[in-house]
Amino acid sequence: MKITQVSAHYPRWPQTPGGWRPRLWQIVVRVESDTGVVGYGYGGGGEASLPIVNGHFRELLTGRAVESVDDIAAIWDDIYFASIPYGRRGVGVMALSGVDLALWDLLGKATERPVYDLLGGLARPKVRAYATGNDPEWHAELGFTAHKFSHRWTGDPADYDKAIASAEAARQHLGDDALVMADCYLSWDAAVTEEMAHRLAPYNLYWFEDVLTPDHLAEQAGVRPRIKPVQLAGGEHEFTHYGFGEIARTGALDIWQPDVTWCGGITATLRIIELAAPSGARVVPHRGGEIWGLHIIAAGLCDDLGELVVGQRSTRQERLWLDEPQAVDGYLAVTDKPGLGVRLNEKMLTDSL
Ligand SMILES: [Mg+2]
Repeated sequence: MKITQVSAHYPRWPQTPGGWRPRLWQIVVRVESDTGVVGYGYGGGGEASLPIVNGHFRELLTGRAVESVDDIAAIWDDIYFASIPYGRRGVGVMALSGVDLALWDLLGKATERPVYDLLGGLARPKVRAYATGNDPEWHAELGFTAHKFSHRWTGDPADYDKAIASAEAARQHLGDDALVMADCYLSWDAAVTEEMAHRLAPYNLYWFEDVLTPDHLAEQAGVRPRIKPVQLAGGEHEFTHYGFGEIARTGALDIWQPDVTWCGGITATLRIIELAAPSGARVVPHRGGEIWGLHIIAAGLCDDLGELVVGQRSTRQERLWLDEPQAVDGYLAVTDKPGLGVRLNEKMLTDSL
């Protein structure tokens, strides 16, 4: 089949967290073929991604043939190369991610195979999910056995006590056997990380996430052996196998967390996974419990752990993607629907398809 139409759309996001997100959150990419089959992808970069996809990428994609996974990889390479002057990292690759995922969905639908089948087959009918958010009591009620709380270092020594309180609450509600992780969102430094490892030792945390920025790989490589047995995790703000190649070379992280909708899609994530094994790292995709990463986990290509940003008990959001698997007793199961297996809730778009 040949690509006939490509378009990117920015949904109406009702409750987006602040900072960079309101205008630069997730986009929808739609790719139509001459067979009438349509693929949908999910990318990043928000309003800044739209002219990239609707302009340059559309020119590159129109008329291209998609018959195999190799064709998708070749298209990925061509778009990456053509967008090097403004791409490589950040918004350009976030836009490419949406295109790549739409092509995987398109190929799956055209061949009537779920994407996990294109990835080698279903290895995990059930995937363990972990709940991200600061409501461990609710996460336990929902049946999760893994939970990640957020923490920010502001420079106040009382921030240590806040981390201890979060870890204590997690253990109280989820028990001793649960996986408990902390996400610091780039706010710690090496000294704080080491001190946190010491003070949080009684709570047996599994990983510390994003302790420093992606530009501080040497510092993370330095602190990594000093916080064992806590694992150092990160990578949601890194892009492509080229970017993760630097993480591999520096040995900065135990656990790599590429975001499938930002790092270059499934194609890039597969290449990142290939790099991880020889460097001794493991891969737990960022937001991997969402359908875009879930197929990779269900195919058994990385660790059996999928993140769901569950938030607080009061969190209620309209769903952009319908038919997405929901966690039951802390586990997620992909369906055997062709492609990625979700439908777009068009009511959430600000324009028509
Ligand atoms: Mg994070």
